[in-house]
Amino acid sequence: MSTLFLRTLRDDPADAEVPSHKLLVRAGYVRRAAPGVYSWLPLGLRVLRAVENVVREEMNAIGAQEILLPALLPRDPYEQTGRWTEYGDALFRLKDRKGVDMLLGPTHEELFTQLVKGEYSSYKDMPVTLYQIQTKYRDEERPRAGILRGREFVMKDSYSFDLDDDGLKASYDAHREAYQKIFARLGVKYVIVAATSGAMGGSASEEFLAESEVGEDTFVRCVESGYAANVEAVVTPPVEPIPFDGLPQAKVHDTPDAPTIDSLVDWANDALEGTYSAADTLKNVLVKVRAPGADWELLGVGVPGDREVDFKRLEASLEPAEVELLTEDDFTANPFLVKGYIGPKGLQDNEVRYLVDPRVADGTAWITGADEPNKHVVGLVAGRDFTPDGTIEAAEVRDGDASPDGKGTLVSAKGIEIGHIFQLGRKYTDAFEVDVLGETGKPVRLTMGSYGVGVSRLVAVLAEQWHDDKGLRWPREVTPFDVHLVIANKDQAAVDGAGTLAADLDAAGLEVLLDDRKASPGVKFKDAELLGMPTVVVVGRGYANGVVELRDRFTGESTEVPVADAVSAIA
Ligand code: ATP
Ligand code: MG
Ligand code: MG
Ligand code: MG
Repeated sequence: MSTLFLRTLRDDPADAEVPSHKLLVRAGYVRRAAPGVYSWLPLGLRVLRAVENVVREEMNAIGAQEILLPALLPRDPYEQTGRWTEYGDALFRLKDRKGVDMLLGPTHEELFTQLVKGEYSSYKDMPVTLYQIQTKYRDEERPRAGILRGREFVMKDSYSFDLDDDGLKASYDAHREAYQKIFARLGVKYVIVAATSGAMGGSASEEFLAESEVGEDTFVRCVESGYAANVEAVVTPPVEPIPFDGLPQAKVHDTPDAPTIDSLVDWANDALEGTYSAADTLKNVLVKVRAPGADWELLGVGVPGDREVDFKRLEASLEPAEVELLTEDDFTANPFLVKGYIGPKGLQDNEVRYLVDPRVADGTAWITGADEPNKHVVGLVAGRDFTPDGTIEAAEVRDGDASPDGKGTLVSAKGIEIGHIFQLGRKYTDAFEVDVLGETGKPVRLTMGSYGVGVSRLVAVLAEQWHDDKGLRWPREVTPFDVHLVIANKDQAAVDGAGTLAADLDAAGLEVLLDDRKASPGVKFKDAELLGMPTVVVVGRGYANGVVELRDRFTGESTEVPVADAVSAIA
């Protein structure tokens, strides 16, 4: 350690909010170069490489072949699939000196598809699975938590090519199993959830979510049956619009200035006058008011007959808002629309409409916005609203808390996406017309899967899941060093003895970080805790009596062992 390129920091970095970010910076594993862009220092790089290697071994074990594509890519292939445009602002676009458009790869379906088309032409070549461990670029709207959500990050991405659906299913299952092995070896606590396929297109898709309070994904789990799904996947996809007429338009009122509750009540009561007659079968109406620029939104529920409006103030919070459903008994005849309310700050303007099945009117519903696939609304904002053209924009909401398998109730939790597997089908092979000669002599269009693991993100996830209040703690598979050997005794015999012990541990196949710095034992112990090697060996005062101390960083247990037994006690 006297020569290691490492400086630990006593204070948390100002821009860090989540523990993994604070600790990885304080422990000198990573350094920020720009927002969402990080440098890997010696200890951090060792963890990153260890994660890579586990991923590589398990990918190789299912017969996937490693290649490496460029990160600097031509526009053309992405134009052909529409993703040059679809990717929006998240794509890093650039021009070369001739003014030709290029991009930095966010994911590589296009390039792998073209590559296979170029090399393979017969059914005899199939199936094939290729992968790379490579740096990806996405201009994330909110880079966050250090390497957890970077704009430059390392991903393992693999792509399977098969002749038919059964083949694709087999490739998908092989990946699913490989991922389970990877995450088990790494020591990640995770769940597999049904996912929506999002921008990738295609059908079957599952996400591997590391359980963590700081996660941005919300998933639901049925404790009784083990069923788990991303919140957005619990909702069935949009259904055909249902013709709808005969009911009055809801009033939506934009106020130029921030209103007071009283002024809103007055306005709403006025607006209700004459809008709904007593003959209306509807009992409750929704009045919705948005103050431009304000970080809140008011929803009122009025009863036409009574001309009374009761406003519920919804403070926008970082938590999705859960609001009681305020509908009553008249909602059996017609489906009605609800304005979705997006919980996290900054998304108030993102108004999404949902069709609610009246039969679930008295429950809490899980709903999600189609245009905000990663944001979730937990719960339901009550009321009804009607589209101007008399049709209903449709989306479906299912009963509150019940698991779709009918085996129990759902509870929600937060997770960090660490892996994602897709059965893409022919979206990309159609775009590039990738056919091989089939067994019958006819061309066969290949079918594809794509599979990602967030390699650099996993470093943060492991830090997040395993740290304690003293610092990092690394599972054995990924630890930068197996043993942290602290010299806490200045006697030359102890110093020499520590050197010998380090060499013996090394000979036994263990990697040793030797703290030979001229620092106090207290400083060294603090650093050992912060850096997080699973085993700390202290050559201290006891050395004169022939013993060293072994500390287990995970359990906190400390034992004294004779120097001669130290290697066997650790190995
Ligand atoms: P997220 O929902 O977190 O934005 P994603 O669904 O956009 O991730 P994919 O396109 O499925 O990501 O990419 C495969 C994997 O790459 C993800 O499962 C995740 O582990 C990782 N990943 C994606 N974006 C980032 C990022 N900005 N920083 C670090 N890792 C990332
Ligand atoms: Mg993303
Ligand atoms: Mg995602
Ligand atoms: Mg994903």
